[in-house]
Amino acid sequence: MKLSRLRALLDEHGLRLSRDLGQNFLVDGGLADELASRAGASAGDFIFEVGTGLGVLTRALAARAERVRTVEIDSGLVRTLKSESLLPDNVELIHADAREIDWRAWLAESDQPKRVIANLPYSIATPLLRTLLDLRESLEDWSVMLQSEVAERLVADTGTRAYGSLTVLHRLVADVDTIATVPPERFFPRPKVESSFVRVWPRADCPLRPGELLRVERLIRAAFSQRRKRVTNGLDRIAEKNWPDLDKSARRGRLEDVLGTVGLDPGLRPERIEPEAWLALSRQLDSEGPEPSSEVAAASPTAAPSATPTASPLAAPTAAPTAKRKGKSARGASGKGRSGR
Ligand code: SAM
Repeated sequence: MKLSRLRALLDEHGLRLSRDLGQNFLVDGGLADELASRAGASAGDFIFEVGTGLGVLTRALAARAERVRTVEIDSGLVRTLKSESLLPDNVELIHADAREIDWRAWLAESDQPKRVIANLPYSIATPLLRTLLDLRESLEDWSVMLQSEVAERLVADTGTRAYGSLTVLHRLVADVDTIATVPPERFFPRPKVESSFVRVWPRADCPLRPGELLRVERLIRAAFSQRRKRVTNGLDRIAEKNWPDLDKSARRGRLEDVLGTVGLDPGLRPERIEPEAWLALSRQLDSEGPEPSSEVAAASPTAAPSATPTASPLAAPTAAPTAKRKGKSARGASGKGRSGR
């Protein structure tokens, strides 16, 4: 879709783009096709897209996959997509808020390989990324456009400013590659920040046992709430729950002992602790504390392939592949770069 056509559609249908809904549309069908290709959209796939917009990416996905289900919250866009017949027959358009979808029910509908591929609205990107981790066993992988700052948090190295709870959760269960860098001028209207298109694969060698992701999450969220302090500070509340009968100083001593047992110095800052060490700490605390609660199923409240273009319409990657990650990909991701909306 040319920019002139996109503008004309918006005008004809009286649509005003909303920043709150993250309405920065792709305008170049060639770019959308390249993204669909890099995201692995393939014949036989059932693809789920969040945020249809005017369907530029949806059409690219539909050209490669058997079936696409796309969710759009904006009624004006939904009306326009329908009245202008902007979507092919293998696309099912759902007018809904993606945060309220029963993803587990959707993913259980078919045995086809399933992927989520989307140019995400900024405002729901982080919670949706978290939801996708819970859905990992039902998906081949997921590829999403994010603002670079968020993408960097997914692939951050331990000890860096970007390293936080989202990093730890992803590194424990997934391999992440930034597969394209998309500058602001490739969107309409231009976002203020750069964008990165990341592909996430569930790890075949994921070390987590059932129910552990939520427990590790509680631990790291508590710890990273005081990321500039010693790890023991952020974990005070956890210690309180673990050992309700002990007084403050005894609890602190016990916590320091547990940290020592898993080889962690109590003086460390949370950002210096590797994902595997967080997991070990979570297990040790569980083994010494009250019965752990089980992981909640947190899934919701939130054609033949065309040829790859010879000249990529994407910006050249700006940095080395994310292979510095230690995790091994379940499916051999080939990182092409990283950067970033
Ligand atoms: N896929 C289109 C493209 O690439 O041009 C549009 C992407 S645009 C970044 C994000 C889209 O998500 C917008 O169309 C917006 O209306 C829609 N959106 C925002 N919040 C949403 C939500 N909670 N559920 C479903 N769609 C949402």
